[in-house]
Amino acid sequence: MTTTSLMTPDSGPALRLLSLGAGVQSTTVLLLACEGEIPRFDVALFADTGWEPRAVYANLERLSTHAQRHGIPVRQVSAGNIRTDALDPKHRFVSMPLHTLNPDGSRGLARRQCTAEYKITPLKKTARELLGCPHPRRVPRGLYAEQAIGISTDEFTRAKDSGLRFLRNVFPLIELGFDRSRCMEFLADRGFGETVKSACVGCPFHGNAGWRWVRDHDPDGWVEAVEFDRAIRHGYPRATTQGQELRGQYFLHRSCRPLDQVDLDAPAKSRTKKHLRLVTTDSADGVEEDGDPDGCSPWSCRSGEPVTATTPSVDHGHRERAA
Ligand code: SF4
Repeated sequence: MTTTSLMTPDSGPALRLLSLGAGVQSTTVLLLACEGEIPRFDVALFADTGWEPRAVYANLERLSTHAQRHGIPVRQVSAGNIRTDALDPKHRFVSMPLHTLNPDGSRGLARRQCTAEYKITPLKKTARELLGCPHPRRVPRGLYAEQAIGISTDEFTRAKDSGLRFLRNVFPLIELGFDRSRCMEFLADRGFGETVKSACVGCPFHGNAGWRWVRDHDPDGWVEAVEFDRAIRHGYPRATTQGQELRGQYFLHRSCRPLDQVDLDAPAKSRTKKHLRLVTTDSADGVEEDGDPDGCSPWSCRSGEPVTATTPSVDHGHRERAA
């Protein structure tokens, strides 16, 4: 890769990056590049929050070895461990989209900044460094990296630009017409059929299906999530030690009940309606079962914006939403 000789607006990307979440779609994109179906990447970047399921790290390790054999290095970038940072009274505030129960019984959602802090920022920082322009050096006009994002045709509305002049997003799965099912078939054909969705173990965006998966497939992660859920009930340790009491309670589960007391196996309406086939839908039932449809893709949302609507509410920056 060169960064100094390719600095005119029409001279193409100085390098090709993949934003690798190590879930179904981005794993498919990486394997497509390994097979030469799409242009190869100079590097695939995995933004590590430090609290992904064990299965995601196992997939990442296997994938890294595979990609390396095809000349594509996989690099982990990180801004820290979201779980230990959130629980550390000495660490600055980590703002996750926690579900909040206000004293008057109304519910809210804490402002989300974790995606920006633990994913977008380290990815941007690394892209700048790879371009030879670490912050605060100015990136010359015309110098940019192309960044592939694993978004499939069934979720095309999530395809967004990066909002950065030096980082231009492309969406190979949409160009190739791959939906999620096609990706899963593709992975299964290549021995990567066990690839699971990537997200923090304790992400409040999980629906019941996601929480059941953690409980049943990542027992250590489940214990961590239950402990985390208890630990943040009355606010982040950093905030409470500074005397900023939360007027209400925080929860990981959208029902605003302690995680280990939620009946995750109760049939959700969407499951019974669809004969126990898990579906992704924007309906309230679908969100309860399958989680937030937008989830946490670093380039599919505007960093730091609340996911649901909203007026500022109580302490710790959370915002109200319809219960
Ligand atoms: S997966 Fe969830 S908790 Fe983790 S960074 Fe994304 S929004 Fe935050």
